Amino acid sequence: MHYKEAKGILSQTNGMNLYRGCTHGCIYCDARSKCYQMDHDFEDIEVKINSPMLLESALRRKRKKCMIGTGAMSDPYLSLEPELKLTRTCLSLINQYGFGLSIQTKSNRILRDVDLLKSINENSKCVVQMTLTTYDEKLCKIIEPGVCTTKERFDVLLKMKEKNIPTVVWIDPILPFINDTEENLWGILNYCVEAKVYGIICFGIGLTLREGNREYFYQKLDEHFPGLKKRYHETYGYAYEIRSKHNDKLMKLYYDVCQKNHIVCDNNKIFQYLHEYEEKSNTEQLSLF
Ligand code: SF4
Repeated sequence: MHYKEAKGILSQTNGMNLYRGCTHGCIYCDARSKCYQMDHDFEDIEVKINSPMLLESALRRKRKKCMIGTGAMSDPYLSLEPELKLTRTCLSLINQYGFGLSIQTKSNRILRDVDLLKSINENSKCVVQMTLTTYDEKLCKIIEPGVCTTKERFDVLLKMKEKNIPTVVWIDPILPFINDTEENLWGILNYCVEAKVYGIICFGIGLTLREGNREYFYQKLDEHFPGLKKRYHETYGYAYEIRSKHNDKLMKLYYDVCQKNHIVCDNNKIFQYLHEYEEKSNTEQLSLF
């Protein structure tokens, strides 16, 4: 871990990353790709130590309230977070200044901050986004070794439901020859239905591989799935977009389950929802109690 004084914190679309790099160790991680030009080891987390100060100043200057996003490029609940509380401090500011929040994680450490998420949601809107890829718990521990399992993430979704905090699930990526099965998708979709998620984002059944993440992915295939690297090479060569041959069948299943259960599966509509700020009226706030 190393500290860095960042120059700014909010992107043009009001997204922020408090950390850079990640220790969750997902074998398919796109954030490892060379195109992101990280100037340090991926696991040597850069901590933007002045981010609360930058955020407070940015929120003060904003003329209009909006949704603040976090978690797109680095998980806000890394193993450092319980000690550093950078995410918690920033959530407190978002709450204090009356902004909305869209937060993405794979970690159940988010449960520590339920009080703040609930408060933000009562004043404006808070959406919790979780990624689910692998229903089988043992397989999940191989594919996403440094973070809580899919079942534990499902428990987070249930907790959010109990608190009336809307949730969105990302089914992404799904790995050909590993978890691109109906059984896997049914397991994940059933979790989503039970947790009454607002929407499920899925761009297709597959993953992306490019310089930086491809090497890491292949190294992990050699460790855990002997022979599979060769199969990937033969099937996909050096393609960037890797599609499962079961894509059409599985996408149909995804659309069918979403439509039947009134879960939004139009990705554009979900992104719009994640960016739309809402201010709750006094009556709405009272009805939440
Ligand atoms: S949580 Fe996201 S950033 Fe971290 S290793 Fe997994 S895919 Fe990469």
